[in-house]
Amino acid sequence: MSLIQVDEARKIILGKISSKGVEKISIDKALGRVLAEDVVARRPNPPLDNSAMDGYALQWRDVQNATPDNPVKLKIRAEIPAGYEAKETLGPGEAMRIMTGAPVPKGADAVIMQEDTERQGDDVLVMDKAEDGENIRLSGEDVKAGETVIHKGVTLQPSHIGMLAVVGRSSIFVGQRPVVAIISTGDEVVDLDETPDGPCIYNSNGYMLAAQTRSAGGIPLYMGIAKDTEEDLMEKFKWALQADVLVSSGGVSVGDYDLVKASLEKLGQDMAFWKVAMKPGKPLAFGKIADKPIFGLPGNPVSSFVSFEQFVRPALRQMMGCADISHNTVQAKLTRTIRKKAGRLHFLSSTVSFNNGEYTVDPAREQGSGILKSAMNANGLLVFPLDATELQEGQTVNVQLLG
Ligand code: AMP
Ligand code: MG
Repeated sequence: MSLIQVDEARKIILGKISSKGVEKISIDKALGRVLAEDVVARRPNPPLDNSAMDGYALQWRDVQNATPDNPVKLKIRAEIPAGYEAKETLGPGEAMRIMTGAPVPKGADAVIMQEDTERQGDDVLVMDKAEDGENIRLSGEDVKAGETVIHKGVTLQPSHIGMLAVVGRSSIFVGQRPVVAIISTGDEVVDLDETPDGPCIYNSNGYMLAAQTRSAGGIPLYMGIAKDTEEDLMEKFKWALQADVLVSSGGVSVGDYDLVKASLEKLGQDMAFWKVAMKPGKPLAFGKIADKPIFGLPGNPVSSFVSFEQFVRPALRQMMGCADISHNTVQAKLTRTIRKKAGRLHFLSSTVSFNNGEYTVDPAREQGSGILKSAMNANGLLVFPLDATELQEGQTVNVQLLG
């Protein structure tokens, strides 16, 4: 097994991951999906200059000296509800009653809000001055015609969905979601409908990796548990080929029953078996079976969790055509001094908070590869660099945000 650094392993993996195809979907299904086209506005938003207030459209020069004690009287020519355009042109000494969102009539250059006026039959008394352009939202101030409003590769959030509707798109092209087969391994691992006696444990990795897959945008295909025999492992891996990606956990280290390696060697192409210079995690298998990427993650729950975050999540995002596949990383001030040996990069389950304009990061006290509780309570992974042996309280460090 060759020793390799985290970044290098990730680079090799991503170099072998191609994007999946695209599909057309309705925008009400598009939340969290990755846009596969540049979306261009055909017309401006707003389409016309329009009123930001309920009030009166007028010419600002007419009311430049208006005050409550010295109101200006204007003749009301017309009424413009939202969704209608005034036919007439507004002249000096005139006003038009106008509602929020209604197009500003020709000849008007300001809107005075209703609260600064008093209606008197067919006239309006204006009690305050108006600036040139006041309360007028200009055509195209949000979006110009021809503008690219959302770029290819963006993961769609609720406001993107709103913008797609602004530009009149009911359906869009997005990257297809990869189907990810999740295979757990180990004679000691049992499923949730079994009774775990003696040394048996539940298949927590299987469910966790399925959930990580889903949160990354993939579709998990839960394949259950393979026994620690080459036959069973090979059968499960072959079955899993109906998926786009294969992810296994356990059986990749150097124990007598770690047979994932042997099985993958027989089935896979270009299989790499790495010792990644990281903690938790270390053993990692990567290659392809029938051209489908396969990841053999370590079995310890936190190793499995962190390895997915470092290697599988970016790969899935790349498959979906994501423009930004890296983790959201922030710089945070460390709450206490921490130490380790040089030689491996550590990912520490941590709590990140934002106070008084800066991030602080508090690493959990217990960091074992079997302490899933610390990972569960964490919202970030503190990155303790490979060769560093001490990070001091108050020092600024990098933290990958989870979720
Ligand atoms: P292995 O790499 O197969 O030797 O597994 C390392 C450790 O992870 C052992 O303590 C296993 O019991 C545990 N482990 C392996 N697979 C799972 C799983 N699916 N769920 C929870 N723990 C597991
Ligand atoms: Mg095992």
